Amino acid sequence: MRATRNAPCWCGSGRKLKRCHLDPAALRRPPIELGKVTPLRDVPSHIVRPHYVEGGTVWPPPTPQILAGAALDRMRHASRVAAEVLATTVAAAAPGVSTDDLDALAHDTYVRLGAYPSTLGYHGYPKSICTSVNEVLCHGIPDRRELRDGDIVNIDVTAFVDGMHGDTSATVGVGTIGAETAALVDTTREATLAGIAALRAGEPIQLAARAITAVADTKGYGVVSEYGGHGIGEVFHADPHVHHTITSRDRAVAEPGLCITVEPMLRSGAARFTTAEDGWTEILDDGMPTAQFEHTVVVTDDGAEILTLLVDGSSAVAGPSPTTNG
Ligand SMILES: [Zn+2]
Repeated sequence: MRATRNAPCWCGSGRKLKRCHLDPAALRRPPIELGKVTPLRDVPSHIVRPHYVEGGTVWPPPTPQILAGAALDRMRHASRVAAEVLATTVAAAAPGVSTDDLDALAHDTYVRLGAYPSTLGYHGYPKSICTSVNEVLCHGIPDRRELRDGDIVNIDVTAFVDGMHGDTSATVGVGTIGAETAALVDTTREATLAGIAALRAGEPIQLAARAITAVADTKGYGVVSEYGGHGIGEVFHADPHVHHTITSRDRAVAEPGLCITVEPMLRSGAARFTTAEDGWTEILDDGMPTAQFEHTVVVTDDGAEILTLLVDGSSAVAGPSPTTNG
């Protein structure tokens, strides 16, 4: 059951949740201001583009991506490249660095690794990563706004290489973040990994939603229902839609070789959000922060294997934990 705002905080402080780890005064940051977006970055001509970049339309159709053998090997490579771009970019997030600086670094890293940034030109999206700061739910466009001490930022990377897309994201603290904000970030990471661990071939994909919701509920966080994970492989956004909240409408069953993303967003405040004038940036109306993590995984007979890992098996999703002042 979801901890209510009037319940005693899970941390044992003796204060109500709404006056402790869900205290708006501790969590809320100055309202996000969108900055100037810089011109499009070039991708060298030797790097293969996804069809939608030049054709303008997104194809092939979003059928489930069931991969094995050489196709799965290509998927592993694309996913590893995405993990590498993410780790490099996450490491550069610091006070005074703009999200456009992060985009430039990510862009150069994709290109160095022979990959095309899947988001660049996808339905007209203008940048190579998404950077969603504080109360920005998702799809924040990198701009000249500098990150400030105490912000959190989700960096979402998708690499297209060897004909496959690999997709991963992590939320990191900028400089020193508050203990309340760190708890949101850490719980979101935990929920993401719990969702992945719940997947099994032959079982409903809803098991992931149940596991994610259970983790969020213990701390009183909401799980965003409007966005979910997706099938991925030769297609950036394929079937099935991976719900992160429990819905009786979802009867999808996992099968061996199915490649999907698991990418829950947890929020510390209310659910309502509004799309900014840029047509992409989704901003929570109450200004309360939100966090997200994402891995690309392949379903196996006895679970799900995370593909968006570095060569040594680590990733920016798993850590390091953000620094805190509490
Ligand atoms: Zn507390």
